[in-house]
Amino acid sequence: MEFNVVIGLEMHVEMNTKSKMFSSAPVSYVAPSNTCLSLLDMSFPGTLPSVNKQAIVNAIRLSHALHMEISDILTFERKNYFYSDLPKGYQITQAFNPIGKNGYLTLNSGKIIRVERLHIEEDTCRQFHIGNESYLDFNRAGIPLFEIVTLPDITSGSEAKEVLETIRSMVTFLGISEGKAELGNLRCDVNVSLSEKGSNKLGHKVEIKNLNSLANIQKAVDYEISRQSNLIKEGKSIKQETRRYDEAHKRTVKLREKVDAVDYKFFTDPNIPPIKLSKEFIKDAIDSSLELASEKKVRYKALGLNDYDSSLLVNSKDITDYFDEGLKTGCSVKLLANWINVDVQAILNKENISIKEFNISSIELGNLVLLVEQDKLSNKQAREILLEAHSSDKKIEKVLQERNFSLVNDEAKLLDIISELLDSNPQIVTDYKEGKDHVIGYLVGQVNKVTNGNANPKIVHKLIIQEIKRR
Ligand code: ADP
Ligand code: MG
Repeated sequence: MEFNVVIGLEMHVEMNTKSKMFSSAPVSYVAPSNTCLSLLDMSFPGTLPSVNKQAIVNAIRLSHALHMEISDILTFERKNYFYSDLPKGYQITQAFNPIGKNGYLTLNSGKIIRVERLHIEEDTCRQFHIGNESYLDFNRAGIPLFEIVTLPDITSGSEAKEVLETIRSMVTFLGISEGKAELGNLRCDVNVSLSEKGSNKLGHKVEIKNLNSLANIQKAVDYEISRQSNLIKEGKSIKQETRRYDEAHKRTVKLREKVDAVDYKFFTDPNIPPIKLSKEFIKDAIDSSLELASEKKVRYKALGLNDYDSSLLVNSKDITDYFDEGLKTGCSVKLLANWINVDVQAILNKENISIKEFNISSIELGNLVLLVEQDKLSNKQAREILLEAHSSDKKIEKVLQERNFSLVNDEAKLLDIISELLDSNPQIVTDYKEGKDHVIGYLVGQVNKVTNGNANPKIVHKLIIQEIKRR
């Protein structure tokens, strides 16, 4: 039996605004519990919400990135329910008229995933348990959230993961969320159903709640696909239900069967009148957006980078910012990209630090790359300097002065070395004359050995050819 897999995602993304969605309390993910809250976040009587303008700007920017229709009338409704992480008894959301509608995003394969809606709402308290006690942290209550809902166009765990990665890339490049799944900035509910190939009826969907890491999304979906297909093969039916992912046992576990839809008794929040957004406001928000990863990639390719190098750079917004800054030194685009993607990345990986924690500025790195380009340093020397500056926490300039590195440009001295090598390996000359060009590379290697990598590569190359031809 073969199956069609149908998956839709509901994602929540916490914004990084300075203050909360409807109060002036600060947004912080590191402050001690219950230090970032106002009376409104605890819904004291007499408090009134005021809408966070930056959150609206952010929502316009993300809606635009997702090619959505943007509503110019904003309304907010109350979603009424009681849960311990929502002691005020309702959440303010946009139930009837989401700010963004009918958009899409594109996967690397070119496949289009339609995005049905994007709306703004407020986060609930963070609830956690220690032993037999439960705790509430109101720092999270009222943080602005995007909720983004896709149509069920996704067909595998890896596609589901890529959709969330794409959203993460958009919000981090737009600078509107930290986008850290491990801190709860990105959370995702996944709906999975299976139907028999050929049938055009969708199966009952199973919802897996609150996945908080990219890896877990893929694992949970893959597990769920095999669980459901095994049940169907055994002749059993799939019930509509809500499950969670049990990370320790790498499986999904039933939470509850879907009862009749909860009636949230949505009604317009009486304290927030509808807001009309002017055309200029929407246009300004879009025009002043930061570049998306896809846009940066197009720009890098126009500068001459290949697909591989530019793709590596745009994996991280902070890396691209570092790269863009380093380009201001006027060094080679290709070389700088290589240095960042290979040498700098190796240090970051090894020490498990981010580019923001890296102690060599991009301008310093750009200047070092310039020295290599101008044949004042070999690659090997530059690499040593970078490592030393990093480990000793000194400026590159300082290390250059101390080490007094300079390339051997002395042609007479280099010619001596080359002649000696050719004298003891006369076969090289014969080989070269028979068309075996690779012997040049071998000889360059030998010269580097003798000079410790300090010879000017252009001069070495020129002298080798000259000397071989002379013999
Ligand atoms: P609900 O009313 O249960 O919230 P929605 O129609 O709002 O359902 O859809 C919620 C999410 O479930 C969306 O992301 C949607 O794409 C997805 N979804 C809907 N139907 C299916 C299905 N048969 N299989 C998998 N996902 C589905
Ligand atoms: Mg729904």
